[in-house]
Amino acid sequence: MRVQSYVIFFEIATISVFFSYFCTQTNLKCDKMEVINFSEQNSIINQFMSELRDKSYQKNRLTFRHNVERIGELMAYEVSKKLEYKPKTVTTPLGTLDIPLPKDDIILGTVLRAGLPFHQGFLNIFDRADNAYVSAFRMYINREHTEVGIHADYIAAPSVKGKTLIIADPMLATGGSMAAAIEALLMSGKPKKIHVCCIIAAPEGIEVVKEALPDDATIWCASIDQGMNEHKYIVPGFGDCGDLCFGEKLQSFRKIADKR
Ligand code: URA
Repeated sequence: MRVQSYVIFFEIATISVFFSYFCTQTNLKCDKMEVINFSEQNSIINQFMSELRDKSYQKNRLTFRHNVERIGELMAYEVSKKLEYKPKTVTTPLGTLDIPLPKDDIILGTVLRAGLPFHQGFLNIFDRADNAYVSAFRMYINREHTEVGIHADYIAAPSVKGKTLIIADPMLATGGSMAAAIEALLMSGKPKKIHVCCIIAAPEGIEVVKEALPDDATIWCASIDQGMNEHKYIVPGFGDCGDLCFGEKLQSFRKIADKR
């Protein structure tokens, strides 16, 4: 019986080693990536989410931005539990003690403009972090407004090489702007670890972003919703996050610029 268990264990180990090797050699994603969905747990985040989604609450932009920021703070706290820590001796007026402190160098990245209040929530917690901003915006590429293209044309970012990169973008819909932001930020090097943080994700967006990330990255979401409508808005979602935070925009600034 014991010999049989050893044989089964050995076979499973051999198959997994072979599978990992196969994935590496063929660039096939083994889908080991951790995806954390806070709506599966009871927490105060669900109350903030219900206010973000509620049409009557949405009329108050200050409350909307504040809830986005508060979710950023709570998500940052959860991410902080995954960092590396080293003890530091602190001297109080009455004695000394060792406190484990995060040792990661953190870069907080976000996508303009909807990402700003969410990013602020992370920055309230990781107050020593350096920051990276990418402008990537969705523009409809057909008359029916059913297909979107992504334009990424501005980046202000430090090098991410060897750092812990946290990219906060509230809506992971098609995944296009997040994938463009990841690609732009990784041009400066390979981070030690990547955390992708969003408020609401569509399952399709998660799949697109997984392809742009290394397997050891983590995706954090306050909720994963059903999917997207024909205009690529998340359903049930809460609508256009940038507009709800800052007011309506002209849909396509490029078209106006092109006419000049
Ligand atoms: N961006 C938004 O602001 N809302 C969505 O539902 C999808 C993308």
